[in-house]
Amino acid sequence: MNEKIIIDDTLCSLCGVCSTACPFGAIALSEDKVVIDFSACTLCGACIDSCPCGAIARSEASQNAPQIPDSSGVWVWGEIEPCGRLSPVVFELLNIGRKLAGKRRCELGLVIVGHNIAHLAEEAIARGADRVFLIDSPRFEQFIEENHAEAIAFAVNKYSPEILLGGSTLSGRRLMPRLAVRLKTGLTADCTDLDIDDATGLLLQTRPAFGGNIMATIACPNHRPQMASVRHKVFPEAPADSSRKGEIVTIDSGEIAINTLAKAIIERIDESAECEMPITEADIIVAGGRGVGGAEGFELLRELASLLGGTIAASRAAVDAGWVPYNRQVGQTGRTVAPKLYIACGISGAIQHKVGMQTSEFIVAINKDKSAPIFDIANIGIVGDLFEVVPSLIRELST
Ligand SMILES: Cc1cc2nc3c(=O)[nH]c(=O)nc-3n(C[C@H](O)[C@H](O)[C@H](O)COP(=O)(O)OP(=O)(O)OC[C@H]3O[C@@H](n4cnc5c(N)ncnc54)[C@H](O)[C@@H]3O)c2cc1C
Repeated sequence: MNEKIIIDDTLCSLCGVCSTACPFGAIALSEDKVVIDFSACTLCGACIDSCPCGAIARSEASQNAPQIPDSSGVWVWGEIEPCGRLSPVVFELLNIGRKLAGKRRCELGLVIVGHNIAHLAEEAIARGADRVFLIDSPRFEQFIEENHAEAIAFAVNKYSPEILLGGSTLSGRRLMPRLAVRLKTGLTADCTDLDIDDATGLLLQTRPAFGGNIMATIACPNHRPQMASVRHKVFPEAPADSSRKGEIVTIDSGEIAINTLAKAIIERIDESAECEMPITEADIIVAGGRGVGGAEGFELLRELASLLGGTIAASRAAVDAGWVPYNRQVGQTGRTVAPKLYIACGISGAIQHKVGMQTSEFIVAINKDKSAPIFDIANIGIVGDLFEVVPSLIRELST
């Protein structure tokens, strides 16, 4: 293989970033140039990605290297809830989007698709969007993910944002992968952190990997936009400022071809309407795990939650046992929550559970085992039997 790394000396500023970035110690700075030790170089490309001057390339592959299209701007997908409001995750994405746009020195956009939604554009501007790309048509009144993906792809192809963020909500999970396929780019789903790499300007997308045992940071160097979805409650909401000014760009939806198998949604069944407060909305959560011992044990937790004005949640062990429904599950394969108070009863604190609740403002853990990992992140730890501790809390609160 003749491929090798080449450095364009006319572009190189001798900053040394490539030398630091090389995981194999194959790059050194001499007095007036960068020197590569080809016996140590594995062609991994870390130096190319890190170079702020664009001075490093692969010799052979450079002709075949993907052309990165010109793009600018951080966009957020303005998900609309069935009731017609912007989803709270949109405000959270506008908050982190503002920070990313600041680092990239570009504008923050919001793309929104639906019918009679101009008022939502104003709300997004108040929450930090500089420009709102509005696709407002009766054709998009219902959220049919293929149609909405087509519409957003049309807007993205026209305005070429560099980054596109959406919520890892039920609708986001249906829309974002379809959109990524249409745009021929990658998607990092379920991110728990986003940042900009200072050296390359790339979006750094961090998410749990390998069953939650490690956090992986993923970049998308060769395709645009860089797409990530983020769970609800990972970032705080952008504050509203009604004096903010922005621009609304209306996109002619007549130009958007839609050709979907689903023609209309006949009925929507909203599970949340039938049960308790959604755990993602609750300020106070009393959560139970295997230690609760059964569905009856959750009645005790429900009593405590109701006295505190909160709701109940559960670990996967309790959900798998059928004691509570799946929409109560907190963790990697459940919901992410960030209440003001999280009381964990009989939950050991496995990493897959912690990733779903560790950003709670105040954590109380009740567990018989003083070495349970949940105590590592608890603000208050009570070592004891939950069937003694919870009733005594209920007694205290009832008097
Ligand atoms: C890919 C993958 C995804 C996963 N996703 C999730 C997820 O989304 N959410 C999730 O929660 N888990 C998830 N898990 C499972 C996770 O690894 C743990 O198995 C699970 O969280 C354990 O639940 P637990 O803490 O209720 O049970 P256990 O680990 O069995 O802990 C029970 C605890 O109760 C305590 N206890 C027992 N009796 C009492 C009592 N009377 N009073 C006080 N304390 C008592 C015990 O000391 C113990 O610490 C996932 C696992 C994998 C591999």
